[in-house]
Amino acid sequence: MKSIIFIAPPAAGKGTQSALVSEKYHIPHISTGDLLRAASRENNERGKYIKEQMETGGLVSDDVTTGLLKERLQESDCDNGYILDGFPRNVEQAKAYEQILDDLHKEMGYVIFLDIDKEIAKKRIVGRLSCSKCGAVYNSMDPNLKPKVDGICDRCFGILSQRADDTEEIFNKRFDTYLKETEPLIAYYEEKGVLTRIDSGLGKEKTFSQIERMLRGSL
Ligand code: AMP
Repeated sequence: MKSIIFIAPPAAGKGTQSALVSEKYHIPHISTGDLLRAASRENNERGKYIKEQMETGGLVSDDVTTGLLKERLQESDCDNGYILDGFPRNVEQAKAYEQILDDLHKEMGYVIFLDIDKEIAKKRIVGRLSCSKCGAVYNSMDPNLKPKVDGICDRCFGILSQRADDTEEIFNKRFDTYLKETEPLIAYYEEKGVLTRIDSGLGKEKTFSQIERMLRGSL
């Protein structure tokens, strides 16, 4: 299995689709948001800095983010491919990633752009919940993504909670950051001929079946 990079605006379903692909194809789901959230809990200057950036909807510096990612990609579960969710976030990170791939003798793989309308994305953010134990993602506003029991994870019975950065105000800031920093990556990867565009406004299952078709080489 080749590696997969997901590029998407906030709330396009990166986390959900990454988890589905990870489960079906048995490759690890690496979310830089999760790596950074873990590092932000460390009681040091770096932890404090990361927490501040994440809470205000800004990006964490490329140095910190690429350093954490490079460490993670050297773990043995990444030997047969992995899913990158939330990285690269800008063209500088995309270039740094190419250097990491060179250093670790890995291939680029697929780049999937999950395309979604801003208003649909905004509605999704208000109801988003994630499991504090296994990381599974739900949405209380979407009948297809609701947990079976309010507040409880279907898979592991962990407690579901809303992320501190999932407010409308922070969503708008994150969307602006996306347009400025991340959207240029679409042209960057299109030029390299590795980008596949997938409509993710149609819900979890339809989006996933488009991804499966692409991975089978028929999209
Ligand atoms: P996410 O979980 O991908 O929505 O990311 C949550 C937050 O983590 C973002 O708003 C950023 O503050 C930070 N973050 C995640 N990935 C990156 C990245 N590749 N570069 C810089 N900051 C990131």
